[in-house]
Amino acid sequence: MSESGERYVSAVTRPHIEPGRLFIGGQWRVAESKGRRDVVDPSTGTVITTVAEADAADLDAAVDAARGAFEGWARTPGRVRARILHRVADVIREREDELVAVESVDVGKPVTLSRAVDVATAAEEYEYYSALAQSVDGATRQIPVPSHAYTRREPLGVVGAITPFNFPLILSSSKIAPALAAGNTVVHKPAEDTPLSALLMAEILAEAGVPDGVVNVVTGGGAVGEALLRHPGVDKIAFTGSTRVGKLAAAVASQSLKPVTMELGGNAAQIVFEDADLDKAIGSVIKGFVFNTGQFCMGGPRLLVHRSLHDTVLEILSQAVAGVPLGDPFDPATVIGPMTAARHLENVETYVAIAREDGGRIVTGGERLELGGGYYYKPTVIAGLANDSRAVQEEIFGPVLTVQSFDTEDEAVELANSTAYGLASGLCTNDLARAHRVAARLQAGIVWVNDWAMLDPAVPFGGVKQSGYGREYGPEGLEPYTKVKSVVISLA
Ligand code: NAD
Repeated sequence: MSESGERYVSAVTRPHIEPGRLFIGGQWRVAESKGRRDVVDPSTGTVITTVAEADAADLDAAVDAARGAFEGWARTPGRVRARILHRVADVIREREDELVAVESVDVGKPVTLSRAVDVATAAEEYEYYSALAQSVDGATRQIPVPSHAYTRREPLGVVGAITPFNFPLILSSSKIAPALAAGNTVVHKPAEDTPLSALLMAEILAEAGVPDGVVNVVTGGGAVGEALLRHPGVDKIAFTGSTRVGKLAAAVASQSLKPVTMELGGNAAQIVFEDADLDKAIGSVIKGFVFNTGQFCMGGPRLLVHRSLHDTVLEILSQAVAGVPLGDPFDPATVIGPMTAARHLENVETYVAIAREDGGRIVTGGERLELGGGYYYKPTVIAGLANDSRAVQEEIFGPVLTVQSFDTEDEAVELANSTAYGLASGLCTNDLARAHRVAARLQAGIVWVNDWAMLDPAVPFGGVKQSGYGREYGPEGLEPYTKVKSVVISLA
């Protein structure tokens, strides 16, 4: 590891993230469970630290703490909650270096990405929902009898937040910030591979003035997640993860009729029309599949390019993709870091092998990069696959782009909509009418035109089809954390 890497790692091994600690009721507690799990630095394959594998007793303690804190937090005036959430954003910025270090060493994210995207966005999420915390309003309703009717938006209670490995800080903040804004309390279970920023955020939330018990963090794997889904003291589940686990999670939650939001997998198409600005389109295409080493639910791993541009685009990609800096996440020049875990790297290899078997032609990449024991895979472009290849239809979740061509707008839309997923989609065109026309026809929760990954806490995202249901971000992202109560008063 580079010298700067050593410095970053030292930030992670601070006493508060001592092995086996959970954050419950505003305190660090050694887990009741004796189970422990190693957390690995994906850029070297070495163990960074060890975290607890929480058990039922730990989870009970966390849910009890959240239940105990609920009434006080729910009654805290919205503007006071807002002030505290705003302070969270400030403390995130004050402790930016630590968060960048933790997120980069844990996920393998390039430090420039962690700083500019993950940490910056987390602060913005708290800021955004801080503003909304002051307007969790109901409405008055006109009814034709001598009475007065109004609605109240009330918090749900204890929210169980279950998050995936790829954007730990952003995707936990996208749940905790609106949950707290609406007056709920939270038990957060981060992903087993990347739990460290959740532990650091527990400390940051406390420092910012979030009262004891309002946010609790339990670490562990799928069993802890499932116990959270089943726990009778949990009132709502906010889940982000794979479609496979999401289906299991929705089935479990349905047994107690817990409301759930499901942010699941994706496999977006990027359509490049013949009238696109080619330079911009190439930039968008590359960003869309290498961003976060392709471990991006809203990535664009399927390029659909107009037949007239197909060969030119492949030629440009073969040069440009190989030149994107891949390597040590702690080197500020790095754009693509390692995959986050060995199993993700193996998964990518499996899909590239499938692509080869299906007659795909590797235009660039198609192999690991051997570097310092890390889980590196070269950004890969594959041409010549039929639409029914599993490498086209399924979510690879790595830096792999498949390239297909089309002749007409209808065909482009049909190919774009042809997978089971519907999270994001995008197109490059200089024809304004076409941009609106095609955006309306794409089956996705968000559509980008002439760039990729344009995300902001003000703009909702979420899935259709097997990408899930519910929305995060925007005022829409606050609603799942409230329930509407109607009050009707007789004036007779
Ligand atoms: P995953 O489904 O393996 O795990 C997600 C979380 O669920 C983890 O915390 C895991 O411990 C937990 N879990 C596992 N089994 C469980 C069970 N039986 N009950 C309850 N919880 C359980 O996903 P991952 O590999 O961490 O993340 C990658 C996936 O997440 C990809 O499919 C990606 O597209 C998706 N994702 C979606 C979004 C979105 O906003 N839609 C965002 C990021 C990632």
